[in-house]
Amino acid sequence: MTEVGVAERLDRVRELVESAARSSGRSGKVLLLAVSKGQPASAIRAAYAAGQRHFGENYVQELEGKSAELADLSELRFHLIGHLQRNKAKVVVKHVSALHSCDSIALAEELDKRAAGLVIPSERRAFGDDPRLPVLAEINIANEPQKSGCNPAQAGALLDVIDEATNLRLAGLMCVPPLSDDPAASVPHFAALAALRDAHGGPARLPELSMGMTGDFAEAIAAGATVVRIGTAIFGARPPKAPRPG
Ligand SMILES: *Cc1c(COP(=O)(O)O)cnc(C)c1O
Repeated sequence: MTEVGVAERLDRVRELVESAARSSGRSGKVLLLAVSKGQPASAIRAAYAAGQRHFGENYVQELEGKSAELADLSELRFHLIGHLQRNKAKVVVKHVSALHSCDSIALAEELDKRAAGLVIPSERRAFGDDPRLPVLAEINIANEPQKSGCNPAQAGALLDVIDEATNLRLAGLMCVPPLSDDPAASVPHFAALAALRDAHGGPARLPELSMGMTGDFAEAIAAGATVVRIGTAIFGARPPKAPRPG
């Protein structure tokens, strides 16, 4: 994809996100997270040049490489949205502005330990001006056996641990509904995540709802998403061979 291609697609996606927010009568802003996993650093540069500042990555090794390669982009924010193994927590906290994929108490405790002393520079902060690492709990909203994410029934305990962690800031909830070609299929899962938020303190305690991807972001916004994670619509199809999770 050429740079012009990325800038044009980004513009189009921004318009669609804004119009979805307008038609759902939302007052708050919806953060557009450009999901750059599997895409070269040059694609991120092109989007950054077009004003994009928040990017989502799934794999720790890829994140580390791009973070080094793009260190000159002072306002670049990486959000980790992929599954994180506990032994990678130490590396990840150095490179991210937010983590959307905290799915266990053990991981939350490890992140808290590794984030001690961390002060995110103001130009790299996400979700407000707190210098601590913002963490969202990833919920396996449809209880899919093969999927990462905390079981909805166990969300309360996980949220308490993140909330009480000295070095983390509880920012909200994230989900990836079951894969489907039909965006309408995601709607009940988005509603379930919003209901789970209401059951655990509402927007005051859990301001962010990270849900919605290329195929279903309009539905997610209608259901209350504050962050949408969009890859394909901005960068085009990902190269077929994704790196191994790590
Ligand atoms: C890859 C990915 C996305 C983006 O998916 P697209 O369909 O390309 O928009 C969003 N969220 C997560 C967790 C992902 O892994």
